Amino acid sequence: MFFLLFGLRTRDEPLDTRILTCEICGWTAPQARFARTTRFTLFFVPLFPVQPRKHLLRCGHCMALRTVERSPSYA
Ligand SMILES: [Zn+2]
Repeated sequence: MFFLLFGLRTRDEPLDTRILTCEICGWTAPQARFARTTRFTLFFVPLFPVQPRKHLLRCGHCMALRTVERSPSYA
């Protein structure tokens, strides 16, 4: 009997952290930036991305996530 195991895997790669003002809670707190990639997996081996890679900011105070531009001068 043969099972074809496939699925999706989402991974977050930390990039850097800066002190910025959060657009959601308004506090000045560390904002961690990371890149999120979702890949198709076959037999638990990630093969190719199924969504474009996007950059996210997580507020250190309210833990809210927001999407940011890829440029290094995000604010
Ligand atoms: Zn916040």
